[in-house]
This record gives sequence, structure tokens and C-alpha cells, in this order.
Amino acid sequence: MIRYFLLGLTGMAAGSFAQCAAYRFAHPEVNARRSVCDHCGHALKPFDLIPVLGYILRQGRCAYCGKKIPARYPLTEVFCAFYCIEAGRKIPDAGYLSFACGMVFLAVFLAEADRLTMCVPGAALGLFGLCTAVIRLFYAEKTGNLLGDFAPGIVMISFAVFAEKILKKEWMGAGDGFFVLAAGVVLGAYYTVWAVMAASFAGLCRFAFGKEERIPFLPDLVRAFLLVWLWIL
Ligand SMILES: [Zn+2]
Repeated sequence: MIRYFLLGLTGMAAGSFAQCAAYRFAHPEVNARRSVCDHCGHALKPFDLIPVLGYILRQGRCAYCGKKIPARYPLTEVFCAFYCIEAGRKIPDAGYLSFACGMVFLAVFLAEADRLTMCVPGAALGLFGLCTAVIRLFYAEKTGNLLGDFAPGIVMISFAVFAEKILKKEWMGAGDGFFVLAAGVVLGAYYTVWAVMAASFAGLCRFAFGKEERIPFLPDLVRAFLLVWLWIL
């Protein structure tokens, strides 16, 4: 019981930290030592930074200017908490679980950074790939031949390069393709294709019903990847 409680707390804190790190990545000019409100710039007190609870107690508004805080922040924290608890239930090995949580943290950071800046930070993407490689090599059962599992990612990277170089249109960054390449290492080709299809469907729905002009694709890919991975774990 205490194990699941700690896992939930870890997940929540990791989700909160990943979003904060992505915000700092997108706004390098903010170099204050403490987090500030996006809107009024007031420094936040430790109480405001408590994941989820702080949001509920402040009724989803900044305590200083009253501006609404997007529900996406606490929802991501709840998602990460649920995720770590569920992964902890399925993975008894502490080393495996650490790499799995690291992978989730990096995936959430990548999704949020892509949403804010429309580009995928390469260093974090590399670390994500390293986590998937370690999981594949040392912990998870082999899913098939590695080259086959790279196929969906290679197709996506080729498509992105083709669209950019020949059609001169940037529909999809190569970063999304590299994420799919790393995802294939742990999901295997079959489930990677499922995840990409689910993400494309979610992206199309957001494009059709949303108001945004450009839809970052990585957040959809990350959600689909994490859910499919948890499902087949
Ligand atoms: Zn404020």
C-alpha cells in the first residue's frame, strides 16, 4: 500500500517537474530562481506549487491575479501518478521501474516542449531513446527483430524529409519520426503502428474541432505511446 502511495507521489512530482522544465526550455529568458505565474509574473509560494492539491485549493486560479490556470497542468500530474502506480503494479523489478519512470518523465517533457515551441529538444529525445534501448536490452522480452521495429519510425522520418525537401511543406517534423523510432524499440512494430494511428486520429479530431492553426503532433504521439505501452506491459 505504502509502495503505491509513494509511486503516486513520485509520478505526480515528476509530471509537475517535467512541465516546469518544458516551460523553462520554452522561455529561456525566465531565469528567476523560483517559478512565477505565466500571466502576472508573481513569484509562486511553495504552497502554490503542490501538484494537484494547490490547483484544487486555489480553485484553478492564480492566487495573485485571478487568471485561470489551464486544467491541463493538474490533469497531466494525475495522469503521471496513475501511470507510475499502474507501472509499479506490473513491474516488480526496481531497476526496470526506474527506467520506465524516467522514460515517462522524458516523454511528458518532450510533449510539453513540442506544444510550447513546435520543436523537439534533441538532447531529451536522445535520453528518451537511451531509456527505451536499456529497457529493450536488459528488461523487456524481445518483441521481434529490431530492424522491423524501427520500420514505422524510418517511414515517418523519410516522409518528413520528403515533405520538407521536395514538397517544401513542413507537415511533420523529423523529431516526431525519431520519437516513433525510439517508441518502436519498446513497443515493437505492430503496436507502434497502432499508437501512431491512434495519435493521428486524435490529432485529426483536434484539427477538425479545435481552433488552433498548427497542431503539435508529439503530445498525441506521447499519450498514445504511453497508453499502448502500459496496456501491453
Ligand atoms: Zn498570476
